[in-house]
Amino acid sequence: MASQTNAFEMAQRQFDRVADLLKLDQSVRELLRWPMREYAFRIPVRMDDGSMRVFQGFRVQHNDARGPNKGGIRFHPAETIDTVRALATWMTWKCAVADIPLGGGKGGVVVDPATLSVGEKERLCRGWVQVMWKNIGNRQDVPAPDVGTTPQMMGWMMDEYSKLVGEYTPGVITGKPVGGGGSLGRKEATGFGVVYTVREALKHLNIDPKTVTVALQGFGNVSQFAAIGMIEHLGSTVVAVSCWDRDDNTSYTFYKKDGIDPHFLMSITDQYGTIDKNAARDAGYSIEDGGAWITKDVDVLIPAALEGQITAETVQLIHPSVKLIAEGANGPTTPEADEVIKNRGIFDVPDFLCNSGGVTVSYFEGVQNDMNFYWTKDEVLEKLDTKMTQAFNSVLDMSLRENVYTRDAAYMVAIDRVVKAMQLRGWI
Ligand code: NAD
Repeated sequence: MASQTNAFEMAQRQFDRVADLLKLDQSVRELLRWPMREYAFRIPVRMDDGSMRVFQGFRVQHNDARGPNKGGIRFHPAETIDTVRALATWMTWKCAVADIPLGGGKGGVVVDPATLSVGEKERLCRGWVQVMWKNIGNRQDVPAPDVGTTPQMMGWMMDEYSKLVGEYTPGVITGKPVGGGGSLGRKEATGFGVVYTVREALKHLNIDPKTVTVALQGFGNVSQFAAIGMIEHLGSTVVAVSCWDRDDNTSYTFYKKDGIDPHFLMSITDQYGTIDKNAARDAGYSIEDGGAWITKDVDVLIPAALEGQITAETVQLIHPSVKLIAEGANGPTTPEADEVIKNRGIFDVPDFLCNSGGVTVSYFEGVQNDMNFYWTKDEVLEKLDTKMTQAFNSVLDMSLRENVYTRDAAYMVAIDRVVKAMQLRGWI
């Protein structure tokens, strides 16, 4: 279902609420409500048939008081400057709540990558860097993969940047392939990070994870590893996932009452997170409409697809059994839906805390690039677990101490850290 909500207005409304709670000065609000720098540009690409196609690209740098800007590049047909602004703003809060020394950025290209050949994708990635290279860098702004982009694309972008600056610079971009400057554990990081926060939240709610049932929206990078982690680390049962089907131009939910097998589903899922319906049906999955995931009689909901999915309308469909929402996606819940979730007493792990595992391991990747020394996967995941657990507990403590909703508490922790960094640097 397409989002009708302007994501950037939503990000600003969420910020305004907390700015009031923290009684922030007008000048501080002006600085944090808007990105510090924005780039909108056209990228000409030679297509395989010899024709030239021009793509719209973006990069937004929201705030770098705590360190270089950091954030993914999305290739998506519905990308706009406002989605990129919102996502860049959330990155500032995400890096601050995760307590890693980085600021917030985001990039995008208006394109469905599935319509491009491998060569066209490579030329588009290199073209993006040819426009932006003077304004990115490991001490300025460090991109990463996101919806519609892959480690291979990051490898091309790093290579193009290294050629332009004349030296091997792996730390300019993270999410690179392992063996090409990438970190072990990056693939699993966001999904497993979601699971570490769910584990801590269940502990707080006094619920045994082994008794828990889960429904997820999406079946891409985040959702796949969140499903694996819920089942294999916590012993929970995942009954539903969903995906967008490009052939039918609609979404579907894949449901199995006694529990899905994420490894089997991954074997019938393409690189864009679209599950083969026929193969799933043959294996006993029921195929339901795309909105069905949110209606399931489960304990935990994990939206892990796109922004603006839990709205004033869809929130009414959430089953009374749901005790916890863990926001794997960025901005999945609208402010109107938030009010309902709060009033119903459902515990919400807000997006920029819940999915901060990806950027945390991206940060670890940059650290390893700088050292030119690489950790084992277990070392990476152990450090990730420690960081996520600390981040979750700083938010839970704030929520309990100030008696505020978890999203507000996460904003309070994050904004407070960014404001302190701006004060230390003499910006305010
Ligand atoms: P992905 O491209 O790997 O997968 C996206 C999944 O969502 C696919 O299964 C796709 O079919 C599905 N989808 C898309 N539109 C849908 C719709 N309308 N209804 C149902 N399913 C739909 O993307 P990802 O990397 O898993 O990212 C998912 C979300 O998590 C995004 O909001 C992204 O910004 C956020 N996120 C990702 C990372 C990361 O490290 N990958 C980190 C932090 C946040």
